[in-house]
Amino acid sequence: MPKALITGVTGQDGAYLAQHLLDRGYEVIGLMRRSASSDVIGERLRWLGVLDHVQLVDGNLVDLSSLIRIMQAHKPDEVYNLAAQSFVAASWQQPLLTGSVTALGAGNILEAVRLMRPEARFYQASSSEMFGLIQEPKQSERTPFYPRSPYGVAKLYAHWMTVNYRESFGLHASSGILFNHESPLRGIEFVTRKVTDGVARIKLGLAQELPLGNLDAKRDWGHARDYVRAMHLMLQQEEADDYVIATGTTTSIRDLCRIAFAHVGLSYEDHVRTDPRFMRPAEVDVLLGDAGKARQRLGWAPEVPLDAMVAEMVDADLARHRARMAR
Ligand code: NDP
Ligand code: GDP
Repeated sequence: MPKALITGVTGQDGAYLAQHLLDRGYEVIGLMRRSASSDVIGERLRWLGVLDHVQLVDGNLVDLSSLIRIMQAHKPDEVYNLAAQSFVAASWQQPLLTGSVTALGAGNILEAVRLMRPEARFYQASSSEMFGLIQEPKQSERTPFYPRSPYGVAKLYAHWMTVNYRESFGLHASSGILFNHESPLRGIEFVTRKVTDGVARIKLGLAQELPLGNLDAKRDWGHARDYVRAMHLMLQQEEADDYVIATGTTTSIRDLCRIAFAHVGLSYEDHVRTDPRFMRPAEVDVLLGDAGKARQRLGWAPEVPLDAMVAEMVDADLARHRARMAR
């Protein structure tokens, strides 16, 4: 039975990846950082019905010794590094924490792999935020990077460390440059989930309006379930490499709002207002990915279209609020 270690297993992608690997017969070890709220921390895994099947182990990406001990004890065949301070807006408030976890944390786990488990295959969760101020209209593995936030800068360090450990030490280390991907398990602070949750609350009479920041920004949004398939495929290749994962379609926040409100028969113009509190010091105006390499080499293609994903998210938020109201 192959064994996988997932850092960030309590996050959106960690939960979907755990489910994907369990379905394929893997033993899944999940790194969980200690928290006083450990009763709610496995909520996403529970939602997918896999909490009882993942072996959760205590550790922290900023604590190298915990990572070394976990490698030693569990000897994983595949290591997926998904843990991060992953919210761009928070990275201006806590830039050094973001650097410690998102950048140096990746260095720590690469070190733990190199020292204790060099035969393991390694996946780094890189991000389209590394393209930032885009240098080409469609971003591929060959597009130069220009990060626009402390988060983007931290991810770039982690990306290059992954490439460097592959080239320096021969690790089977791959970097997946994933464009935004969403689901009903997306953190509530990200714009898609904020919008679908807002739509649900407005529809149920729990709120009247939805304050948002820049409505003109555009993102290439896919579904997390599709994107974790790509992570797994990368580690099944004979050679480690870097891959862009994207849908190839970009949509503005305004159009996202239009789609989400229309799903419940409402008009976004009646409810969305812009609020300067949600504007960013530097913006990534538009992202649009070219996943041609992944399509060709991994045979990967996204399956869930944006409107179906938004409908799934709105419906899940409606169900959550209805359940809360019934209590
Ligand atoms: P989430 O924010 O949902 O999950 C982040 C995970 O990291 C959580 O499990 C969190 O634990 C964990 N974590 C945070 N700090 C530490 C730490 N110090 N030690 C151990 N674990 C820690 O992110 P996603 O699932 O959306 O994304 C997964 C990865 O992919 C992230 O690295 C993200 O930056 C990257 N990415 C995501 C994209 C997206 O659109 N979703 C796009 C491109 C890249 P806890 O539950 O305790 O907070
Ligand atoms: P990001 O691409 O990782 O930063 O993902 P987000 O979902 O946080 O943000 C996507 C885009 O939505 C960015 O360009 C934000 O500026 C924009 N946006 C507009 N209003 C909001 C808001 O209220 N919250 C968030 N998180 N983003 C917003």
